[in-house]
Amino acid sequence: MEFMQPLDWEEALEIKAAHPEARPIFGGTDVMVELNFGRERPEVLMDLTRVPELREWGEEDGRLRVGAGVTYTRIIEELKERLPGLAMASRTVGSPQIRNRGTVGGNLGTASPAGDALPPLYVSGAEVEVASVRGVRRIPVEEFVRGPKRNALREDELILSFLLPGARGPQQYAKIGPRNAMVIAVCSLGLALDPERRELGVCIGSAGPTPFRAREAEGFIRGVLEEGGLWESRSEIGESALARFGELVAGAARPISDVRGTAEYRRHAVAVLARRVLRWAWEEYREGR
Ligand SMILES: Cc1cc2nc3c(=O)[nH]c(=O)nc-3n(C[C@H](O)[C@H](O)[C@H](O)COP(=O)(O)OP(=O)(O)OC[C@H]3O[C@@H](n4cnc5c(N)ncnc54)[C@H](O)[C@@H]3O)c2cc1C
Repeated sequence: MEFMQPLDWEEALEIKAAHPEARPIFGGTDVMVELNFGRERPEVLMDLTRVPELREWGEEDGRLRVGAGVTYTRIIEELKERLPGLAMASRTVGSPQIRNRGTVGGNLGTASPAGDALPPLYVSGAEVEVASVRGVRRIPVEEFVRGPKRNALREDELILSFLLPGARGPQQYAKIGPRNAMVIAVCSLGLALDPERRELGVCIGSAGPTPFRAREAEGFIRGVLEEGGLWESRSEIGESALARFGELVAGAARPISDVRGTAEYRRHAVAVLARRVLRWAWEEYREGR
């Protein structure tokens, strides 16, 4: 196995163009599992950890642009105010050791339906910035993730960053697993409120071939908040509306039964998560947090 270690972005793209088969590795928390179990034996491994451009984040035209190599630990420490939903999801990833190494870029690279970083990106309408020596493309995350462990990267492309607006209101993320840490989600749910635009985003994780937005449920709650004047009054959302919201989220889920849970359990669980997460976010809004 050949090991390559570019020192900057341009060199990384040149290596990828010359060796399309090169397997990128950043934190290695997915790649090393594949290697250790002998499921994969890439001819070329390209370590991207020396590329400074991947570790940077900043603002660009009113949005945040976060390098693919920013770790979960850094998201929690440096971006928790700007991206509370993603920080919340990051806290649920693995263990401190995994969060110190693992990155959102790696989560996008793996494109697992259970990837914890993904629902917060979906609800904020994030874009994934990919590049090759041929140029740069910005792809909505919903188009970037193509299927279970499939993404839109072409063979000479690498993920540079993801772009999304800073939180415009309360954001929440919750996941279900057999214990509190070191679990791949049985199912998960991300939610973001945007009081100024009177909008919300809801994304279900690990209950379909990719994470996906529950648009009908979003539309229903949008109507409830609008028609009841709840954005203005900041009154509670009624129990029947919460229950209906849960039903619509469960109805949108396309779960399978696997080692982590049955389809039936997942459908039930996303309804519970949906009600819970909306209640938490709405409480935050009511309290003006
Ligand atoms: C013990 C353990 C617990 C875990 N717990 C969780 C969990 O709770 N939630 C969760 O979502 N995940 C979990 N994971 C999976 C993993 O930690 C995450 O998917 C993480 O985000 C991967 O990031 P990484 O930087 O380590 O990626 P890597 O392993 O380095 O790479 C992952 C994939 O992305 C590709 N890649 C990486 N960087 C780039 C780039 N810049 N451009 C193009 N392709 C790239 C790689 O080629 C590979 O296909 C866990 C893993 C382990 C081992």
